[in-house]
Amino acid sequence: MEDLIKLLDENLEVDTYEVIDDEIFIYTKSIRTEATCPYCGHSSSKVHSFYTREFNDLPVLGKKSNIILKNRKFFCNNSDCKYKTFAETFDFLGFKAKKTKRLEEYIINVSQNTSSLAAEKMLKKNVVQVGKSSICNMLKKRNING
Ligand SMILES: [Zn+2]
Repeated sequence: MEDLIKLLDENLEVDTYEVIDDEIFIYTKSIRTEATCPYCGHSSSKVHSFYTREFNDLPVLGKKSNIILKNRKFFCNNSDCKYKTFAETFDFLGFKAKKTKRLEEYIINVSQNTSSLAAEKMLKKNVVQVGKSSICNMLKKRNING
């Protein structure tokens, strides 16, 4: 499980996981010692607080995956920065996203050549619970961005 999580980000570590029916829940945390403030670019290692972030990823051994990340907030030490704290961010996950980028990619690939209703049904079976309006939005966003 640890190896699978490290494919997303090598600084992630698995605390525990459990399988419930056709879903897997993976509890993870970041062990990176420093994070970069997205507002000013300064690094900080001073943790302010923790909060939980949940998102879906590609299925693991045919189970829909839910990742529960113990996300950290850091203090920004830069006195010129107008933000006092910032949350650690990850390349594999967009800002406030509920799905990893590679899962979104997969959904878009599946949906491109079929109706969003058919895609919803297929994805629901063994990949992720996603509504057809979300699928439409993802496709639209993709078309706008080229
Ligand atoms: Zn800053």
